[in-house]
Amino acid sequence: MKRTLLVTIIIATFLMSIGQTFAAGQYFSGVWGVTSASKIAVSGLTLNLEREPVSINNRLLVPVRTVFSQIGAKIDWNESRNRVVITKDNDEIIMYIGYTNCYVNGAIKSMEVPAVLFNGTVMVPVRFVAEAFNVLVGWSEKSSTVYLGKMPQEVIEEIPASGGNASNIKGRIVVIDAGHGGTQTGAVYGGVKEKDLNLSIAKKLNAKLKELGIVTYMTRNADTTLSLYARSDLANRNNADLLISIHNNAGLLKHTGSMTLYYPSSSKTKRNLSSYEFANIVQRNMCNTLGSKDMGVIERPGLAVLRTSNMPAVIAEIGYMSNASELSKLKTSAYQEKAAEALKKAVIESLEKMYK
Ligand SMILES: [Zn+2]
Repeated sequence: MKRTLLVTIIIATFLMSIGQTFAAGQYFSGVWGVTSASKIAVSGLTLNLEREPVSINNRLLVPVRTVFSQIGAKIDWNESRNRVVITKDNDEIIMYIGYTNCYVNGAIKSMEVPAVLFNGTVMVPVRFVAEAFNVLVGWSEKSSTVYLGKMPQEVIEEIPASGGNASNIKGRIVVIDAGHGGTQTGAVYGGVKEKDLNLSIAKKLNAKLKELGIVTYMTRNADTTLSLYARSDLANRNNADLLISIHNNAGLLKHTGSMTLYYPSSSKTKRNLSSYEFANIVQRNMCNTLGSKDMGVIERPGLAVLRTSNMPAVIAEIGYMSNASELSKLKTSAYQEKAAEALKKAVIESLEKMYK
């Protein structure tokens, strides 16, 4: 009897704990999900939501209007068509309740989970929308918070760092610009397009900086056409600490080596680091790590990316594609990796100086 009671209590306790975990499991617009206790922070401030977030297949959905109006998006909900249109600046996302296909700037995209309704509130996958708008999105395990825009201070402290003076580089913001792209090939030599070389090095650098806990944005991570202003605009909007634009050079056949370009003005200085100092750090690290010839740190006031960005910014010309032997090195993954390593070292050194 006693034993039966004990077993009953154990089972009851077990069921209660299961019940707590899955208490809110239900169908949302025909899709099974659970409500979530996760919090949402925008620009470092936690929001009061009219509905709890919903977790579907481990993807978090949030009330579209309350969350995305905070980043300046406009939301248009058409109930009779079950359609929500989210617009921000020049970007537009169209979703239909219960469907995983959506449109981003007119192109069809597939989401892992659809937008759903929760007691009449439109809920959308938070990461998908944030990434489509190129807004920083992250997750803090410790505080169960999804953050958009700016990282809350407590999240910055949680980020593990694996190198450098962690306190000075973690959570700092670096925009990586792969030069050219899409219809703009840049230099072309021996069948190699500059835009592809630039992107390959940019991706390697991006991975390395992320490992250090640095927040990165890439102006492009595919072969897309971008205006020069879109590049500096991304850095300005996100209040980046550094902008590093990756290019490769062309010149006389005999020219080889690395070169760094910068905009000569104190207006691009941030804290303890000027653009000129940033350029020198980049140049020294490229020449040392790659063993490349020092082609100098060059003032280029006319270049739009450098002129219109508000922070220390450089164009790193890794090597000369017009020189056959340098091109044969630039083509290799190993040399690209070395170039990314050089730029990573330069970023660490520059951030440490900036925040000294
Ligand atoms: Zn170029």
